[in-house]
Amino acid sequence: MCASSLIYRGRIAPTPTGHLHLGHARTFWIAQQRAMAEGGSLILRMEDLDRSRCKPSFITDCYEDLKWFGFQWQEGPDIGGPHEPYDQSASMHLYHTAMETLKAKGHLYPCTCSRKDIQQAQRAPHAADDEWLYPGTCRATNSSTWKDFSHQSHCWRFRVPDGEIISFEDRRLGLKHYRAGQDFGDFVIWRSDGVPSYQLAVTVDDHRMQISEVVRGEDLLVSTARQLLIYRALGWKAPAFYHCPLVCDDSGQRLAKRHASLSLRMLRSQGSDAESLQASWS
Ligand code: GLU
Repeated sequence: MCASSLIYRGRIAPTPTGHLHLGHARTFWIAQQRAMAEGGSLILRMEDLDRSRCKPSFITDCYEDLKWFGFQWQEGPDIGGPHEPYDQSASMHLYHTAMETLKAKGHLYPCTCSRKDIQQAQRAPHAADDEWLYPGTCRATNSSTWKDFSHQSHCWRFRVPDGEIISFEDRRLGLKHYRAGQDFGDFVIWRSDGVPSYQLAVTVDDHRMQISEVVRGEDLLVSTARQLLIYRALGWKAPAFYHCPLVCDDSGQRLAKRHASLSLRMLRSQGSDAESLQASWS
């Protein structure tokens, strides 16, 4: 084993479409604790691909909230590092290359179905994570006739190996299994608005930033199975995974950006101090 594979590299990857809440802070805190326990590095990546929703003020506030809470990262958009860029919006060329490779290897096909088409398809129950299962309407389309992937009328989907069980060892939850075509269907790699999907961007970034362990919420377990298919298709070694429990509100609903009262901003303005919040999790 080469020495570099022994170095722990973790990451926190906020999406600045709103303010960070306690759920983000808890997941990121676990990521930071795990990186520190291993004597490794923590990388900050700004997942700002959705240009219409990622407002500059959210980005500024995100840095401020992270610092207030006590996060410290060793590489990131604000301090640089050997794996620049750390902003997804500056990494489009890298996603293009990966997308072209997947296309050339025959893993992708263009899809003209609208969200409504998918919802109306009789054969489209929900995937294991509540995404719509794609019914396969455009699967037979010949991708070689579609040249321009930024064309507005179609997205590009990854053809999953129907029936195959995708397994991985989660470092908190143990062995997890998901059946392709049943627990999740053909998923979007490149959106019809010319933006790479979360699944593609996160995989390309975790690979190129040499992340050794991905720490994120349990809501992304099924996405890990999707991303493992991308790693395999691109011939890349996948990192280890640790999925954290989700923070819920009093009614049992998972925290979301709409829970403004539990945003770090609001808690801070109401006099909460970061140390007590951290202490409540240890
Ligand atoms: N930006 C993503 C989110 O906020 C990160 C997901 C991940 O950690 O892979 O949900």
